[in-house]
Amino acid sequence: MKTIHGIPVSSGVVIGTVYVLSDSRRHVRRRTVAPDRVQSELARFDEARQSAIEDINQLHHAAEREMGAEAAKIFLFHVGALNDPNLNRKVRAKIEDDRVTAEYAISSVFDDWIALFGAKADPTFQTKVSDLEDICRRLLDQLLGARFDALDDMGPGTVVVARDLTPSQTAAFDRQKVVAIVTDLGGKTSHTAILARALSLPAVVGAQNATDLVEDGQTIVVDAERGVAIVNPDEDTIERARRAGERAASYQVSLRELVDQPAVTADGVRITLLGNIEFPEEVDTVLERGGDGIGLYRTEFLYLTSPDIPSEKTHFNAYTACLNKLDGKPLIIRTVDLGADKYTQERNRIPERNPFLGLRSIRYCLQNLGMFKTQLRAILRVSAHGPVRIMFPLITSITEFRQAKMLVHDAMEDLDDEGVPYDKDIPIGMMVEVPSAAILAPAFAREADFFSIGTNDLVQYTLAVDRTNERVAPLYNPAHPAVTKLIRDVARAARRADIPVSCCGEAAGEPDFAALLLGLGVRTLSVTASDIPPIKRLIRSLSIPQCERIAKKAISLDSETEASAYLRDRTRKLVPQAFDGRSVDPQG
Ligand code: PEP
Ligand code: MG
Repeated sequence: MKTIHGIPVSSGVVIGTVYVLSDSRRHVRRRTVAPDRVQSELARFDEARQSAIEDINQLHHAAEREMGAEAAKIFLFHVGALNDPNLNRKVRAKIEDDRVTAEYAISSVFDDWIALFGAKADPTFQTKVSDLEDICRRLLDQLLGARFDALDDMGPGTVVVARDLTPSQTAAFDRQKVVAIVTDLGGKTSHTAILARALSLPAVVGAQNATDLVEDGQTIVVDAERGVAIVNPDEDTIERARRAGERAASYQVSLRELVDQPAVTADGVRITLLGNIEFPEEVDTVLERGGDGIGLYRTEFLYLTSPDIPSEKTHFNAYTACLNKLDGKPLIIRTVDLGADKYTQERNRIPERNPFLGLRSIRYCLQNLGMFKTQLRAILRVSAHGPVRIMFPLITSITEFRQAKMLVHDAMEDLDDEGVPYDKDIPIGMMVEVPSAAILAPAFAREADFFSIGTNDLVQYTLAVDRTNERVAPLYNPAHPAVTKLIRDVARAARRADIPVSCCGEAAGEPDFAALLLGLGVRTLSVTASDIPPIKRLIRSLSIPQCERIAKKAISLDSETEASAYLRDRTRKLVPQAFDGRSVDPQG
């Protein structure tokens, strides 16, 4: 029995079977093809090889520019290998003689080559092993693209253990089979973690070396409440896990009674409790859990789950599906927030060196105007049918906000010319998720119709802590006074300008932090669907003056550890029931 410690990011306790999804491993199953498909498999191989060579040539030129000719030479070896007649002969022979798919032929020929190089005593050969793995991966990516990790040889009750998962990989898992995930990398607010929460998938991230500690087929208990995974559990542990799972489930049942009750504080202040979604289907879950509407629709997931760039129709259909389900309740559509850990790095020929400080979010949109306008048109068109608001992510300057707004007005003019209806007064707001926006909140409040505070990024950018990096996870603390002071100022600026302000970061779904937000004057919280009932329970148990006292004290502390300890202890004392489902007694 081995215990692996990581970061808890969702709820649930499950018992399953390990499936290791390591970076270098090729999960290409042997598949034979009909004799009349052999030619097309050969053609697929040729095409993949050509595209890979083109990609590498481009990489080579860019690397030459950036690093100099000598360092860029490595790519010449890659091109040489792809042009190697011996390799090509072998792959083609395998496809023709064994009648297998191009991907299987490639992976088995490369496996042999890699084994041969790896076994040589000469270190020059050994260093080529990772190059060969790289070339093989590139070819397989060409052939399998986004489908590569939608593995189909998993059985029911699978716990995927991986070095890292992209949000699109996580979204693609078959929920009938995958019951939990454990990753070596990642933090509490990485998008994979957020998605796991949205999919109600028990997850432990940032487990450092989990992939080294497990093997396929082993039994594993994933306790997402505590952030631990236990490999080869004994009977006693399995029994405890079973009971913990039942307790977590019955806690969820106990929350159902809150669904029809309003989110009103003990002293009668109505709080708007909205849901965060990544897919239109999640609207149902938000409403079932008692949400008042959608406070954050992360529309970039339209890109993450489809191999094609979404068309205006795709956008329009997705938003219409949400509106139809919402039946008059509000829908805040955030324009695509691609970049950083979402989408672009996977597709970039040359990954950015600092993707979180790079071409992401609104910056990406402002450099890809065609794509951006397509989305804006779809949002505007759908606004004719219900209460829709537009929200821009990662605004860092007034110029950027004005540019984005101007593009909305351009799209409006186009629709006017075409006689297409839309809401001429559609509210246009922004995420406040970088310190520059928070500091300039009074100026932004004169131009924005509403604010939504994104603590996931605000914490990362204020504290210089990568939200996806498990090594600095203990430093990622939303209760840090530098962050809470910014939130206070943003709430104040919004109040003075009389515009709505909400919080849609993951911290809004933490009971102690939600209490602090109410105390700072935030009256709208937007959280993952599963957090709606416990946060509603918290809201109904506290009065605003109590929250204000909590906020005042927490913000006055200089130390972030004291602030978070104070928040936790004080809120737990006042509303112990709000934390019920969050601590599954490991011994119980
Ligand atoms: C945030 O940064 O708090 C936020 C809600 O946006 P995302 O998590 O999608 O970056
Ligand atoms: Mg963000």
